[in-house]
Amino acid sequence: MENHRLQEALQSLKSTKVRMTPQRHAILEFLFDAKTHPTADDIYKALEGKFPNMSVATVYNNLRVFKEAGLVRELTYGDSSSRFDSNTTDHYHVICEDCGKIVDFHYPGLDEVETLAEHVTNFKVKHHRMEIYGTCPECQKHKH
Ligand SMILES: [Zn+2]
Ligand SMILES: [Zn+2]
Repeated sequence: MENHRLQEALQSLKSTKVRMTPQRHAILEFLFDAKTHPTADDIYKALEGKFPNMSVATVYNNLRVFKEAGLVRELTYGDSSSRFDSNTTDHYHVICEDCGKIVDFHYPGLDEVETLAEHVTNFKVKHHRMEIYGTCPECQKHKH
């Protein structure tokens, strides 16, 4: 299934005339395999052995291309450590406060919260983000 999504992403990149390079392919593949919402640095560290000439800037540039093509979402946290999500459907996140891992979970969209926010504030609401914080199973094990 993941591989199917990767194939679709590769296909849609092709249609936007983005040139496929081995590095670009590897970065995209890593993103679609990763379930942890990696940072650009995580991706760089995972692939630098395979591509010794690749820089963090290359990773960033590729992520920007993927983002513009609508293949990944960027989750910003107000600092430089943006995380990248290859799941562009609506979903929520649980974040481990110890290791920073981000895990997807699905819950019906809280549309009524958006409607209420619009009524109360007169904002034109576009979207919302909800995050649950805690300690992941691996980190719980390390603590005991
Ligand atoms: Zn953890
Ligand atoms: Zn996600």
